[in-house]
Amino acid sequence: MPFESPPPEARLCSSCGDLQSLNFFALDNDECRRCEASNQQKQVVLQADEAVE
Ligand SMILES: [Zn+2]
Repeated sequence: MPFESPPPEARLCSSCGDLQSLNFFALDNDECRRCEASNQQKQVVLQADEAVE
């Protein structure tokens, strides 16, 4: 019987719906790092917009 490593844990991203390895998620975050990064960029843009007005 060949040795099989356990399947890597994965989590479904709540934002893009992709099933990603847990490595793609920050601890206790159900958004993958890709969505997290894009959301942070949006927030930075929003904050920049607010700062202008
Ligand atoms: Zn995602």
